[in-house]
Formats: sequence, C-alpha cells, structure tokens
Amino acid sequence: DRLIDASIKGQEDIVDRAIRPKLLSDYTGQPHVKKQMEIFIEAAKSRGEALDHLLIFGPPGLGKTTLANIVANELEVNIKTTSGPVLEKAGDLAALLTNLEEGDVLFIDEIHRLSPQVEEILYPAMEDYQLDIMIGEGPAARSIKLDLPPFTLVGATTRAGSLTSPLRDRFGIVQRLEFYNVADLTQIVSRSAHFLALEMNLGGAEEVAKRSRGTPRIANRLLRRVRDYAQVKGDGSVTQEIAHAALDMVDVDRCGFDYMDRKYLLAIIEKFMGGPVGLDNLAAAIGEERETIEDVIESFLIQQGFIQRTPRGRIVSDRAYLHFDLQKPESN
Ligand code: ADP
Repeated sequence: DRLIDASIKGQEDIVDRAIRPKLLSDYTGQPHVKKQMEIFIEAAKSRGEALDHLLIFGPPGLGKTTLANIVANELEVNIKTTSGPVLEKAGDLAALLTNLEEGDVLFIDEIHRLSPQVEEILYPAMEDYQLDIMIGEGPAARSIKLDLPPFTLVGATTRAGSLTSPLRDRFGIVQRLEFYNVADLTQIVSRSAHFLALEMNLGGAEEVAKRSRGTPRIANRLLRRVRDYAQVKGDGSVTQEIAHAALDMVDVDRCGFDYMDRKYLLAIIEKFMGGPVGLDNLAAAIGEERETIEDVIESFLIQQGFIQRTPRGRIVSDRAYLHFDLQKPESN
C-alpha cells in the first residue's frame, strides 16, 4: 500500500478517534464551508427542523466523513453511517431509514456508487420523507408507503460528476472541500502531535505539512512514520531535520510525491513526449486503474499545476520537467 494514498482508510485506533475534530471550531481550514455550515446549522436548530440534505464532495482524505460527523454533533442528533457499495438491496436502505429518529443524520459515503434500485428509494425519502417500497414478488407483490421522520441525508463523494442529476438535485446544500494549504496542515499536524504526546517544533510540523499533498489523512499518517523515526534515530522529538530525513526514508519527496506519482509523470514525459495522452493509454503504461489515477494521483497533480487535463488527454507542465531536472523538448 502507498503511504500517500489517501483513499486507503485503514483501521482507526483510539488516537485517530481523538484526533478527529468533533466540532466546527476544531475543523481546520475550509473557511467558506465552515462559515456557511455554521449559519445553516444554527438556522435549522432555531427553527427546530431537520437540516437540508447536504452533499460533500472532494478528493479522499480531505475531511468529508469528519464534517458529516461534526454536522450531526453540532445539530445534537444521532448519525447513522453507511456507504454506497454496502447498500446492495432496496431493503438495506429501507431498514436504515425506518430506524431514524426525527432530525437524525444518515451519512452515505461514496454515494456515487449506489445501485439504481437503492437510489430509487432515496428520491421520495429525501423529497417527502416517504418510504415507497415493494414487498413480495410476482402477482403477490404490492407496494407499501411509510412516513419517515424528517431527517438529513449527508452524502459524500469523490466525484460529483458521477452522481445522477435527479440525486444531485435533491441536495439543498452542496459543499466542495479544497486541498489544504501548508499553514492549515501545519496546524493539523501540531494538533495531532499533541494527541500523540509527541514533542515537535514548528519546523518539524511544517516539513510534514509540505509533503502531505494538501490532505489531512496523509498528514496524520506521515506524522506517525516521522514519530517512529524520531524515536529510533533521534531523541524522540521532531525537528525539521528529523522530519526531512524520515520522509526521505519513506520515499515521500519534497512535493509529497512517491514512486507512483513519479512513475506517472515520467511516463507522460518519456513515453508520450509530454502528452497529450489519454487515460487508458496512461493506465496501461503505469499499470494502475483509471479510477485510482483520476482520484488519487491526478487530483493533486492538477491542483499543483504539474499536469493539465485537456479534451485530447493529459499534458505535463513545465513544473513537471523542473521537478525532475529535465529539459522540455523543443517541439512541445
Ligand atoms: P474523507 O471522508 O474525506 O476521506 P476523513 O473525514 O475521514 O476524510 O478525514 C481523514 C482524517 O483527516 C480524519 O481522521 C481527521 O482526523 C483528519 N481531518 C480531516 N479534515 C480535517 C480538518 N478540517 N481539520 C483537522 N483534521 C481533519
């Protein structure tokens, strides 16, 4: 597994749970999202109504699940959590919906991966708090309607474009999470170090932040590897030098790239003359799946200006040549 693959979630331990922010005020960065959600939550609470359905989208590891939990916490309601691929049958969703209490949050991660049958159930549930379900089969089949308590659906997705438009249209609030800047990540890393009872100076925190691909999940993961290194090779405390050496050792470079990012960029440069190259060709060249390339590798490379997605395919930018100390071919 790649250390910097934010889509790998892993098991949460006690410390992870402590690190995960519980309130909007602990949620670092994303100022626009925070400002809006503060108002929407307060308004819903003062009216005594369920919050409008909320869609959160953004690359893996940026805090979608965290935000969903914070919303429930701030609303002082229960949250039930599931995910698109887990809900196989209409009945799976019906069971969850009928167990909700008034105002509760139902969180569906990877909501773009819901099956059409399950999605069908969701429409009337979201719109009219109605459950419309078929029971039995063949001539004995009949449809039953049940009233549901008002609730808030929070959906998370890495790909807003993969949502069907009837589903997307039923969300009253849509929030897009952005990659975090180094200052925000430094704050997140420092806070996590505190929970890990790890001594770390600002230089150490910044070094981890810079190499975390704008992603809190990666920042927290790198921090643990840096802690190991500091314990074994140093006196346990983390300085900029220690963080630098530790991250070099685990092969995460100064831009937060690992072998896979380098393989990706070098493939475009060396095999496809800098591009444009289509996703399928690129996937075959580096032996990686299309979805992983788009969600995990490219989203950050695009945001950082290392590549561009054009209608004719991917093109590397001057920054990519500079990163490898390579000369850009004249003809490009
Ligand atoms: P996603 O659901 O988008 O994949 P998560 O919500 O699981 O991401 O976030 C991954 C980890 O990053 C969380 O465990 C949490 O500790 C940390 N994290 C995410 N967003 C923030 C934030 N805004 N401030 C502090 N920590 C965060």
